[in-house]
Amino acid sequence: MPENEFRVLDGPALWSAQAHLPSVLGRQLVVTRAAGSYVHTADGRALFDGTAGLWHANVGHARAELADAAYAQMRRLETYHVFGRYLNDRALELADRLAALSPVDDVKVILNSGGSDAIDVACKLARRHWQLAGRPAKTIVLSREFAYHGLHAYGTSIAGLEFNRTGYGSESLVPETARISADDVTAVERTVAEIGAEHIAALVAEPVQGTGGVNPPSPGYLEGLQRICRDNDILFVVDEVITGFGRTGTMFASERYGLLPDLLTFAKGVTSGYAPLGGVLVTPAVWRPFYRDSPDTPVFRYGSTYSGHATACAVALRNLALLEEEKLLPRVVELEFLLAQELEVLRTVPGVADTRVAGLLGGVTLDDHLGAEAVADELVDHGFVTRPLRGNTLQISPPFITTDDELRQLVKAIGTVVTEQG
Ligand code: PLP
Repeated sequence: MPENEFRVLDGPALWSAQAHLPSVLGRQLVVTRAAGSYVHTADGRALFDGTAGLWHANVGHARAELADAAYAQMRRLETYHVFGRYLNDRALELADRLAALSPVDDVKVILNSGGSDAIDVACKLARRHWQLAGRPAKTIVLSREFAYHGLHAYGTSIAGLEFNRTGYGSESLVPETARISADDVTAVERTVAEIGAEHIAALVAEPVQGTGGVNPPSPGYLEGLQRICRDNDILFVVDEVITGFGRTGTMFASERYGLLPDLLTFAKGVTSGYAPLGGVLVTPAVWRPFYRDSPDTPVFRYGSTYSGHATACAVALRNLALLEEEKLLPRVVELEFLLAQELEVLRTVPGVADTRVAGLLGGVTLDDHLGAEAVADELVDHGFVTRPLRGNTLQISPPFITTDDELRQLVKAIGTVVTEQG
């Protein structure tokens, strides 16, 4: 039927992100306020936020400490750009703090507005690196099947979730990308040999795949990727947009899995989502050519008006202090243990096919006859936010301030709804 024979749907002016509009219009939940681990909707619901929004609200929602930090900073200096000769003191302070927290030594810090920005910069920088190193054929960026790296042009192009990559008229928006196996090191080695390492600039990997279904790495896989990168002069880009700042119990998942990335991307947890901020930690081999004291030294052309945004940086500094003051990383380790126990029990419920945990990141895969989307919808009526992900999987990633009892209730509610719908 031609397109003009369909009724055109009504909806608000706001175009929902990542939405099949006929499926969501008219049944969207409008969140109007929040407190701690709960969000409140315009139609009067109070929901336990079992996903911390989009894996961001690590210290919980609507905290006065972070609002006060933003207010104080805006009264002094909302921001000043970091282009050329100019900097602002908050961006300097945050970069020093992040360099001190970094899993690799002596990093330079690039700051921008979020995870998609960070990925865009990291991939550009990887390609620039090899151009300057006299190896101009090294342009291909590898990523894992089922990967999610945001939706800017580079993130779209290296998506391992095909529906995010396709539909733009060519194999990929940015040319020169390729997918590798998400869990088989030997298959990755084969792909690298087929393409030829002399054509590969970088390999980008989430330590624990998030949107792809909460997939912790198979044993030895990440170490294998790191070795392949070292052996073949491929830059290893670890995307810690979800896992950074404590989500897996260490400050970065790179520590948990023994990784030393060449570039590390971060966002979300750096401010717990209270201000849009992301960035890249850059190791010496990559930053050094841009810091040579010579008239011919090249310029890396990254940046936007909001790179190093002073208010976002002030919020990040306060957020990082809160993680420490409230001992939230050791708390994640405790919650991981509890979540693993609870999911072990949930796994015995008919209708649950598999469960996975890494830190305070859980995935619950349902049998085919159940729909994760329908289960997530029903869970809202029971008072819980979860999220359907790829592979008929429900996302569990509550704030770090979640109590034992709240976590138990969340998993119990999933069991109840699965049983009801089974
Ligand atoms: N990388 C990963 C691993 C992510 O999960 C996300 C977002 O969920 C991004 C990048 C993109 O981040 P943002 O949504 O802040 O642009």
